[in-house]
Amino acid sequence: MDTQPLIADFDVQTIRNDFPILHQSVHGYPLAYFDNAATTQKPQCVINTIVDYYSHLNSNIHRGVHFLSEQSTHMYEEARKTVQHFINAAYSQEIIFTSGTTGAINAVAFSFGERFIRENDEVVISAMEHHANIVPWQMMCERKKARLKVIPINQKGEIILDEYFKLLTPKVKLVAVTHVSNVLGTINPIDTVIKAAHEKGIPVLVDGAQSVQHIPIDVQVLDCDFFVFSGHKIYGPTGIGILYGKEKWLNEMPPYQGGGDMVHCVTFEKTTYNDLPLKFEAGTTNFIGAIGMAEAIRYITKLGIDKIAKYENSLLAYTMEKLSGFDRIRFYGTAKTKAPVISFLIDGIHPYDTGMVLDKLGIAVRTGTHCAQPLMDFFDVDGTVRVSLAFYNTYEEIDCLVDGIRRVIAMFG
Ligand code: PLP
Repeated sequence: MDTQPLIADFDVQTIRNDFPILHQSVHGYPLAYFDNAATTQKPQCVINTIVDYYSHLNSNIHRGVHFLSEQSTHMYEEARKTVQHFINAAYSQEIIFTSGTTGAINAVAFSFGERFIRENDEVVISAMEHHANIVPWQMMCERKKARLKVIPINQKGEIILDEYFKLLTPKVKLVAVTHVSNVLGTINPIDTVIKAAHEKGIPVLVDGAQSVQHIPIDVQVLDCDFFVFSGHKIYGPTGIGILYGKEKWLNEMPPYQGGGDMVHCVTFEKTTYNDLPLKFEAGTTNFIGAIGMAEAIRYITKLGIDKIAKYENSLLAYTMEKLSGFDRIRFYGTAKTKAPVISFLIDGIHPYDTGMVLDKLGIAVRTGTHCAQPLMDFFDVDGTVRVSLAFYNTYEEIDCLVDGIRRVIAMFG
């Protein structure tokens, strides 16, 4: 290793002690986990919160007057406030708990679509979207006889802003764009995207699944209309996510699921709906997931998102420098501003072969289409190898990755 991380107060070795899963061998080698864009590992405090909750407090929320139920309800609503402060939403009722990013986008696609989309209207997405920010809009467009328009990207994997501006016609009723690409790592100029749409009176949904763990988010400064993300990608549990929406939109939108908790009064003739946020939280939600997610947010807030970003950026630069030393590596996603996600192919070697050999060395990378088939088509590849970093990754692990790639090349020629 020839570069040292120089981030004050960011002791990666101590931080790694918080993550029990990292301290194991895979196929006889120390685990090097580089699949963080798929899901992140959980610190002990999150694991403890979930175990403690099931051990001592488990009880359904918003339903009982007994002690455990009241405790549960209190913790769930406190979790909502933790999320509110984390992304600086103006009101806690603008925070809706969902099953994840996918659940949140589907909720908006259905509910916003029902209320605001008419025949021949248009929805704009980008060419680098995850399937979760493509398919729900296609389904909605099919239902409402509307059209999906796609902002093109260049070979570096950057949105072509001039083309985007041209798409913003009076027919467009919503723009839905990812903040950070899960394949390319591109950090999109989301403030410009939002500003341009707002100048035409068009609301914007930001898919924050790959940004909120790397970049400080302030939804009021961004002025986005919707912001969505998943708990499991920010060191929290699976099955929980967030739909942030400006109150003015959420109040106008109809519920997308019916059931318990989302109602004021039910008769066989007519049902009236609850106020925000419960209008959008039908049935028993993943309340323990919400409480675990709040603990994860407290954990990363304590580390400091700014410090996390600084360390991850230095690790990204180191990784790029090392991988660039291989003339047979071709990168996908070379945008000016990038999160720590690197996609590449080794010339003449199938990504699965690369992934399989690295796995045998204890190195976990992702291979395949990364739920972004249209993006693979754009680059004319079947898939890529993806290395996605987190703040618990080390420079030594990157050196192991580089050695592993040397072995892949030696093995496949
Ligand atoms: N959007 C982006 C950019 C993603 O990377 C992902 C998952 O990888 C999703 C949406 C879907 O997230 P989830 O599967 O947690 O709902």
